[in-house]
Amino acid sequence: MSGEGHGLAVHHILSFGGGVNSVALMILLLRERLPLDGAVFADTGGELPETYAYLEIARDYLRSRGVPFTVVSKRGRTLYETAWERRVFPSAIWRWSTRDFKVTPILRHYRSLGGHMNQYLAIAWDEIERMKSSRVDYVTNLFPLVDRRMTRADCEALIQDAGLPIPPRSACCFCPFNSVERWRWLYENHPDLYHRAIALEEHSKHFPSQRLTDQAFRDRAEISLRALAEIFRKGEELPGRPAAEQQTCGAECMT
Ligand code: SF4
Repeated sequence: MSGEGHGLAVHHILSFGGGVNSVALMILLLRERLPLDGAVFADTGGELPETYAYLEIARDYLRSRGVPFTVVSKRGRTLYETAWERRVFPSAIWRWSTRDFKVTPILRHYRSLGGHMNQYLAIAWDEIERMKSSRVDYVTNLFPLVDRRMTRADCEALIQDAGLPIPPRSACCFCPFNSVERWRWLYENHPDLYHRAIALEEHSKHFPSQRLTDQAFRDRAEISLRALAEIFRKGEELPGRPAAEQQTCGAECMT
């Protein structure tokens, strides 16, 4: 709950990423009656339709328990529009998309609330290397899933136990951390979004020397999204070794 310590308001906010870990943490916080003043989701404009639909489920779940749910975004253009205008795509190296479209809007929201934020981050026990301290002095990061040694499988079990559907992996459709399997899923389920990603990749001033698929193959198979689509369409073998599912460094994406 919001508290006052030495005159400073203290808020407890769930940084909601839209995926399995975040939904499980939302349930956990409410079940254990941990202090919770709100939840916040940063919308890049490039999330999956399934993620946007799930936001409504989360919003209803929280609202029916008296917890406000806030969606924030970077002012102005969406991530896709920004990338298009700059003729780049989100970089797995520089991670400017996470910084500008996830972290910064959330911190702006926190500053608008005033006081100190205890921010719940949905890092699971099996991705403990993603735990990070806050870089700003008005936010303290809390990791209840790690504290309870809850793995991703535990998170899924908790969601099922609560009677909620399992959310899809949350990340922008055109995320450079997409695995081959996520690209395949996007190609099969949202061909329009896959082709939007092709357009972004081919519009980049760094294409074809850099590709949105660079992280998807362990051996950096030099294959574009368009070529990958052909492989999916024909059911051919992949030209390189798929990399394991990757996570970004921060907790704001893919949780
Ligand atoms: S999900 Fe991927 S593309 Fe979207 S903000 Fe995070 S790292 Fe960037």
